Amino acid sequence: MSAARTDGPSRVLVLNSGSSSVKYQLLDMADRSRLATGLVERIGERSARHVHTPADGEPRERERPVADHAEALEAAADELAADGLGLDSPELLAVGHRVVHGGRRFSEPTVVDDSVLAAIERLSPLAPLHNPANLEGIRTARALNPRLPQVAVFDTAFHTTLPEHAARYAIDVATADAHRVRRYGFHGTSHAYVSRRTAALLGRAPDEVNVIVLHLGNGASAAAVAGGRCVDTSMGMTPLEGLVMGTRSGDVDPAVVFHLARNGGMALDDIDRLLNQRSGLAGLCGDNDMREILARRDAGDERARLAFDVYIHRLRRYIGAYYAVLGRVDALVFTAGVGENAAPVRAAAVAGLGSLGLAIDEGLNSARTRGPRLISPEYARVAVAVVPTDEELEIATQTFALVGS
Ligand code: AMP
Repeated sequence: MSAARTDGPSRVLVLNSGSSSVKYQLLDMADRSRLATGLVERIGERSARHVHTPADGEPRERERPVADHAEALEAAADELAADGLGLDSPELLAVGHRVVHGGRRFSEPTVVDDSVLAAIERLSPLAPLHNPANLEGIRTARALNPRLPQVAVFDTAFHTTLPEHAARYAIDVATADAHRVRRYGFHGTSHAYVSRRTAALLGRAPDEVNVIVLHLGNGASAAAVAGGRCVDTSMGMTPLEGLVMGTRSGDVDPAVVFHLARNGGMALDDIDRLLNQRSGLAGLCGDNDMREILARRDAGDERARLAFDVYIHRLRRYIGAYYAVLGRVDALVFTAGVGENAAPVRAAAVAGLGSLGLAIDEGLNSARTRGPRLISPEYARVAVAVVPTDEELEIATQTFALVGS
């Protein structure tokens, strides 16, 4: 990605409009500093919460109803303006938007015009919770300052390099193509950033290294990255496939759906909610937060132990699978909330895999260090690393590279 340039405006506002929240960060790409961060959550509920934190000041928090994403973004723009950082400021170069689904069409960050908006809208059936919210964020930001370039950075883009044999489900091709059924993958911005940052940690160029990235947050996915290109990933047509997640099941036999509909008397929407919201760690033990699960497991709670064991088993299956996909692995890297913070998860994920060249140094693994770091012993054939993800910085970097002077 291009280095920071200092001539011309260098600030990028990054917007992540989720289904019921808007997160934003204002970054200055001249020095990659953060000038402000904010979050509006519980949009559309009786009372929303807006926390705005300027880089050099105390957080400002407000609770009041916020009807929709447009209102949320207007509130964010007001807070930024109060610090002299409004959307009309001449230092602001562009707005970079996280867009969840870019389908097959968007393999790169893209300056938004009407045809791009229409294309994102056509992809909404594939991401019904996310793309409409992303679109509303783009439309509102555009209305607030029509002269400002709006750049869409797609969660799926990094995975458009998936070879056909990894992107295809083994189902009838005509049916699949008619309904755009294929594996798109998600968390791509994080996988791109973390795999590149891991190469830097190893002191090597991204195109020289093969990396398995484990993005373990409330949503979780694995990616096999060969020489900087993604060749496989665990999420599929939607973010439901793959690893065990906070509330999502990850892989299940699709016949479970037919069985629950035919014999369990469940409607399709109920099964959708079951697999997306009442499954994963929460479904197995009632908690979706790995901190709680580890504490309960350590106190002897059997359901928490089962949840942990199922989570780890699935993770190890993907590590083994991606080892075989890549052939040679230079690094295994953990990122996101669980990956960055849960040492017992990292230890269990690679326990006993010495014959694959994978080992963890217990002292390095349990050290409470921030920032990218190696946790494998010096003798290990494969580097094991913890690399904090930074999707906002990656979106700002890609936006700046596209529209910076
Ligand atoms: P993310 O989606 O990346 O923000 O990750 C959120 C998840 O990270 C939470 O639901 C927790 O399960 C997990 N998490 C955060 N901090 C810790 C920690 N110190 N130990 C274990 N898990 C953590």
